[in-house]
Amino acid sequence: MSAVVEVPVKENDLVSYNPANSKEVGRVKVSSEKDVQEAVERSRKAFKIWQKTSFAERKRIVMRAREVILAEMDEIARTISDEMGKPVAEALSAEITPVLDLMQYFAKNTEKMLRPEKRGIGLLGLMGRSSKIIYKPVGVVGIIPAWNFPFSIPLGEVVMAIMAGNTVVLKPSELTPLTGKKIGEIFEIANLPKDVLQIVQGAGETGAALVDSGVNKIMFTGSVATGKKIAENAAKHLTSVVLELGGKDPMVVFADANLEKASSAAVWGGFTNSGQACSSVERLYVEEKVADKFTKMVVEKTKKLRQGFGNDANTDVGSMSSERQTKIVEDHIQAFKDSGAEILTGGKRNEELGEIFFEPTVIKNATNKMRPMQEETFGPTLPIATFKTEDEAIELANDTDFGLTASVWTSDLSRGKRIAEKILAGTVNVNEVLYTHGIGQTPWGGFKDSGYGRTHGREGLMELVVPQHIHVNRFLFTPDVWWFGYSQNAIDTFKEMARTFASGSLVKTVGLLPQMWKRIKELNKKDE
Ligand code: NAD
Repeated sequence: MSAVVEVPVKENDLVSYNPANSKEVGRVKVSSEKDVQEAVERSRKAFKIWQKTSFAERKRIVMRAREVILAEMDEIARTISDEMGKPVAEALSAEITPVLDLMQYFAKNTEKMLRPEKRGIGLLGLMGRSSKIIYKPVGVVGIIPAWNFPFSIPLGEVVMAIMAGNTVVLKPSELTPLTGKKIGEIFEIANLPKDVLQIVQGAGETGAALVDSGVNKIMFTGSVATGKKIAENAAKHLTSVVLELGGKDPMVVFADANLEKASSAAVWGGFTNSGQACSSVERLYVEEKVADKFTKMVVEKTKKLRQGFGNDANTDVGSMSSERQTKIVEDHIQAFKDSGAEILTGGKRNEELGEIFFEPTVIKNATNKMRPMQEETFGPTLPIATFKTEDEAIELANDTDFGLTASVWTSDLSRGKRIAEKILAGTVNVNEVLYTHGIGQTPWGGFKDSGYGRTHGREGLMELVVPQHIHVNRFLFTPDVWWFGYSQNAIDTFKEMARTFASGSLVKTVGLLPQMWKRIKELNKKDE
């Protein structure tokens, strides 16, 4: 069976193929640079009105969009599966379900999270000043996602952006344009005002045009290489960017862990979405004394997985999403073999199903020195290495340029939590694996080369607003002591202020009042 056509543009049509059978799923028009520019201009106009809508109105629309998704759940899941090769079951469990939850959370809580906030300003408060922080939408948000979770990732970001009062231009991945188009249709049915969300279609050039269009924020999900290009281009316009990039996520298994659960978690964490998740388990570190037993359990469970077409309800592992990605997996397997690691199961394409299916692969005797233990694989491989001590486990887990997620497995929860805090990753799970992007309430993002900024949670919402400080002075009957009219008395006052302000003590400040009063009298005299 032939593999999927890379960047499949035909006479200005972007053709979406099912990677598993190379059949066309549908096609959309590619947006030109001018189309992108015009979309952003319309978005800017729409923003002027949308930013003034009430939270109640935004909530109503997002909740309506949820109803549309619930009503069209089967069709949406089928489109995701067809474009990407993942089982329909995973489209439902890992995309539709979590994003419905996220929608509800932000529909109901954005107003509360963005409520104006009075900020204590210490001693200045005693001098009649007050400070309030309000949160303003950033404006037009450009969203550029990857193909691996083509529904939940962009949709979650769209919801957070519009709930905060922004308008959005979304460019889906060129491998999943129909899923992106569907996101636009859902909001159209939900009566989102025109141009508050627009979809532009195309590959890297279209994404680059969006970055160059002067949007106010870019939310990017994808590879480190593209992330760096985007950050560079965005810097030319001083556009701020959230970068959600790759991972090389470690799973650390101690001898006291529940090995039955941990081995199932490793198999799911390594092979769900055919290993094409940024938070897939890509490095498995097992305490030496249980390594043989644990490895055997992982291999047995892996062999039982049913690989097949996404639309078969009994498929556990689908196809890869592109030939490019499959080649990286092959290259990594070869590099593992060349450097002395042993393939225990898998290690090749599943020719019976088609070239684009790669068998779930378990690898023994891996070490961090091997190239594929450092580069992101983004495919169904589980390389296993061993460790002897807690410190060694932490060192191995941190020996990477990435830092997206990690997991620690032990029955001693206090040890688990202690180790979790020593691993440099945006999310560290104890006795859990991979799924936490599905939690809309908590921040998502990476350390090191896994990117910067956050999506999800209050922290993610804050990326989509600008805090504005409103400062008010109620004591207009006196001049500010630091105003012009400097003198020896002013210098004495300022020294005293420096000492007392630095102490933070209210009592000492009260002691400062006579000195301040002397200075105010001095200033008043000057004004007479
Ligand atoms: P990619 O970098 O090739 O493409 C991502 C998006 O960027 C696509 O929409 C693409 O069209 C666009 N793009 C490409 N070149 C561009 C340019 N010069 N300017 C603007 N846009 C451009 O990544 P991919 O292959 O689609 O996705 C796989 C990667 O995504 C993996 O590294 C994976 O770990 C990462 N990922 C990260 C997260 C996360 O949350 N951290 C989630 C999912 C995927």
